[in-house]
Amino acid sequence: MNKSAFYKLSYGLYVITSGKEGRFNGQIANTVFQVTSDPPTVAVSINKQNFTHEHISSSRRFAVSILEEATPMTMIGRFGFKCGRDINKFEGIGTRVGKTGIPIVIDHAVAFIEAEVVGEMDCGTHTIFLGRVVECDVLGAAQPMTYAYYHTVKGGKSPKNAPTYQQAEPPKTAETPAAKAARYVCSVCGYVYDPEKGDPEGNVSPGTRFEDLPEGWVCPVCGAGKDQFAKKG
Ligand code: FE
Repeated sequence: MNKSAFYKLSYGLYVITSGKEGRFNGQIANTVFQVTSDPPTVAVSINKQNFTHEHISSSRRFAVSILEEATPMTMIGRFGFKCGRDINKFEGIGTRVGKTGIPIVIDHAVAFIEAEVVGEMDCGTHTIFLGRVVECDVLGAAQPMTYAYYHTVKGGKSPKNAPTYQQAEPPKTAETPAAKAARYVCSVCGYVYDPEKGDPEGNVSPGTRFEDLPEGWVCPVCGAGKDQFAKKG
């Protein structure tokens, strides 16, 4: 079985929010799709270990914010690689309360969909929630981000809880020549700092060696500090 075939599937990138009575959480998902148009119904696959899973299970509702290509990696990192049990993911993020009472993320969202759960399927590690759409609207004209764009242009990774997660293959090539500045990998999220690219979102210009990054620099995906990085060998 060649699991690379899965990489040929196309997806988008979404923030899923859920909760009730003042307790809310949100996470990144790439697995949202429309099931029927009449009545309008969508489905989302959520890992059972995720805090958002608890919220959807108990509140029976969720909202989907469809992210634009320009969404900063720090925002994706906050919703995708951090746990809502530890931090308030909504701090500093623009939201509006929808029909369902759930905060809908509107920062960097081109559209949103709110749904009430009408069915669910146990898929082992994940649950597929089926949601009847109660409200939706377009918020902007920007290009929605595809999962391929997230991986190839933004350099994003899939967290272990993502349905599409695959363990990284060991590098096939020999070590890079000593003369070339080393790349470093984030032990938390798998982001690779490439000195040739720098970190434009973090105002680090191309050509900056990892060793020369300021001490306060953090992983643009998950927010981990420099000490969480290891040399990529
Ligand atoms: Fe990271």
